[in-house]
Amino acid sequence: MSEGRDSAFGVETTRFARAVADAPRALPAGFARAAALRGEGPDLALVLWRPTAAVSVGRDQAIVREVRRAWCREHGVPVLRRPTGGGALWHDPDQWAFCLAADRARLGADPAERLATGGALLVAALAGLGVEAVFVPPNDVQIAGGAKIASVFLVETGEEALLFATLLVRFDVAAALSALLVPTEKLTRTGLEHARERVATLSDRLDPVPDDATIVAALTAAVATRFVARPVENEAPFPDVETPEPADPWEDAAADVLETFERTARATLRLRLTRAADDTVTSAAFATDAAHTPADLAARLATGLVGVPLAELAVATARLTRPDDRFVGFGPPDLVRLAARAAEKARLAGALGLDAAAATGVMLAGPGGDALDALDRAGVVLVPYCAKPAWCALRPTPDCIDCGHCAVGDAYRLAHERGLEVTTILNFEHLGETLAEMKARGVTAYVGMCCSDFFLKRHVAFREAGMDGVLMDIVGATCYDLKEEHLAYAGTFKAAAALDLDTLEKVMARIPGPTSEPGAGEG
Ligand code: SF4
Ligand code: SF4
Repeated sequence: MSEGRDSAFGVETTRFARAVADAPRALPAGFARAAALRGEGPDLALVLWRPTAAVSVGRDQAIVREVRRAWCREHGVPVLRRPTGGGALWHDPDQWAFCLAADRARLGADPAERLATGGALLVAALAGLGVEAVFVPPNDVQIAGGAKIASVFLVETGEEALLFATLLVRFDVAAALSALLVPTEKLTRTGLEHARERVATLSDRLDPVPDDATIVAALTAAVATRFVARPVENEAPFPDVETPEPADPWEDAAADVLETFERTARATLRLRLTRAADDTVTSAAFATDAAHTPADLAARLATGLVGVPLAELAVATARLTRPDDRFVGFGPPDLVRLAARAAEKARLAGALGLDAAAATGVMLAGPGGDALDALDRAGVVLVPYCAKPAWCALRPTPDCIDCGHCAVGDAYRLAHERGLEVTTILNFEHLGETLAEMKARGVTAYVGMCCSDFFLKRHVAFREAGMDGVLMDIVGATCYDLKEEHLAYAGTFKAAAALDLDTLEKVMARIPGPTSEPGAGEG
């Protein structure tokens, strides 16, 4: 290792150790190698390897919400939980994995800055290979046009930080989409062609494709240049690491579980609760794809929310954040809103007689915090076209004649009985136009139906509409299940989902009729 000597890198004071695997190694072996290398005392420990096939989820993710576990089991693809934050990833030997361990202060002033350092290293390495790219916070490295070619993630333990990144040489889109549930913007408009447009690789940017030695040299040079340090090779072997399948408390489909999610511009937050008869929390689980430190937030919420009355959930959540918490892509107000939404869904369920599964399927949108008040004010009902049978001639239209052949007719009838407008949303643009038109003429609240994946993915449209929405999840195969949301976007999804008529009737019964006082619905 170098120590204060003159070189082409200037006066080196940074001890920089590097280990490179000459054959594909499992993801955990690389993390273990990085920990061992850093333990030998260098200021920077860089480990590079090509990972064997696997799916990894971020430290705080709900595996069942991110991974098609049955497909992974069937194809012998291990599912791993990374120590870092971030989202779910597909790995195979056609990508390079990168771990850089160092004092966290060396990598930046806070987690967002440290992730940006990781992004800058990837951008520099790509520039060295001849690919122009930019870091797009919090995790992506993209080429012009927005296709992702690399990702970077972070974990911190005390003063120690580890950056983990993957760089795509090639990408098996079909395998990745088979292994991952991809409802968020990571691979917008899934479907093979659409996903391919969203992912870039060295092999489609460079001809000839750089060999392993060239890629390793570029990644190493990026680190060496930034930290003015010369790498010293460490030849110790990568360890074999036992990797039992990670536990996933979210996979337990207990009947009384209430789930809620919130989406910020750059993070998905999930809360899973079970309750006692007196409406106190008996168990809590928090999940996110976003980075934050210290890493014990999920554990803090899991223990700290137990015993809390639902009515006090938001306050209790606020109290469980700490002054030293640092968040990337979300913050304490988002956590508090998540808890408040969960409590409000439970209150709504109690008022309407919904069981926990139906309450989980309710999605609340908009600035207000009182779902019952939103139902009192609701002026419009929005129905997704996919709930109409594929053979219905009115499927591609905003209308329904209540012919008696599907629950959409019931939705139209229930809406008309209460003097509400009702329309079928035909595609994403139509949703935006309809919400804008409703807002312009003074509608303050609405009832809607859509799949939860659509709600999660299109959260911006619902939030920016500025009206309070009580939405219900649809049932049956959605186009996300069928990997056809690009067809949904265009309004040409062929399969038929269905409305949850029982929940719809209970929600609609609460809405006052044309002559009733607010709050005087039948619920
Ligand atoms: S009830 Fe409406 S949507 Fe359903 S089949 Fe009849 S016309 Fe079509
Ligand atoms: S995304 Fe697909 S399944 Fe979901 S509401 Fe839209 S059309 Fe229906």
